[in-house]
Amino acid sequence: MTRYENGRAPLSDLIKVGDQQYLPVGTCARWREMQRLAWEKYRVWLVITPGWNGYRPLDIQIQYRAELGVWAAVPGYSSHGLTYNGRDCAAIDVFNWRDLAPGNESLAWARFVALCRLVGFTNDFVSPREQWHIGDFDPFTVPAFAAIVINPSTTALPTAQSEEDDDMPINFRRESTGVSYTLIPGYGITAHANLHGFRLTAFGNTGAWPPAPVNDALSTDQRIGAGERQFNDDNLRWWLALMDFEWVAQDLDNRLPKPSEYRYADRLQKIYDAALARS
Ligand SMILES: [Zn+2]
Repeated sequence: MTRYENGRAPLSDLIKVGDQQYLPVGTCARWREMQRLAWEKYRVWLVITPGWNGYRPLDIQIQYRAELGVWAAVPGYSSHGLTYNGRDCAAIDVFNWRDLAPGNESLAWARFVALCRLVGFTNDFVSPREQWHIGDFDPFTVPAFAAIVINPSTTALPTAQSEEDDDMPINFRRESTGVSYTLIPGYGITAHANLHGFRLTAFGNTGAWPPAPVNDALSTDQRIGAGERQFNDDNLRWWLALMDFEWVAQDLDNRLPKPSEYRYADRLQKIYDAALARS
């Protein structure tokens, strides 16, 4: 038995990691660990190919099959649909794996496969062969390294050192509007549509559930306890600029993401713009 029928998972059960990009909690933790490792070892920030190239709902599978033919799976059978050959399975298309060794594809491939193995992703399991396509056959289990690496209370991370230098997701709240967001340094900002979204994201980030809501709301203390930072607008502008979101910092009211939106870091947005111009 699989958790969902292929392509039928509600997006609200998944973590939004980019525009049109959703992953189950376990896969999200593995992916973030892989991004961190690739950055640490090779100074390459791996990104998901623009489009529905994490989880792919059934209607999008139908659309992609019509557009791509044999390069997209028969609708209802895609390994991007959270089931594959009767098993739970999540898939990600990695846009820039060749950057792991520019100009040397066999070395880049060796590094890519090694990173995948370190975090538990599977390579080379679909045909025709797609080198960029990686799979996770345990998508709903948050691996132990997520708790060890990300949860500060279980590690001896130096406290004074800036935790903003690594890719640990940071939950924050704009005090003037009461809206909460998650920022992944170097990557993007997403807004929480509701309390469920906040708790799900906080769990994906820390491996620990924030306290159950009382009267469908969390107190500021509960939010701070769950790792959420509270910012007034002046501090938020300053901090966002520091985190490579200068464009957002310039106009908080209009550029902070709405619940259905996503904002990329300035540097990543440039990479995406260049990728879209090429395709
Ligand atoms: Zn794929």
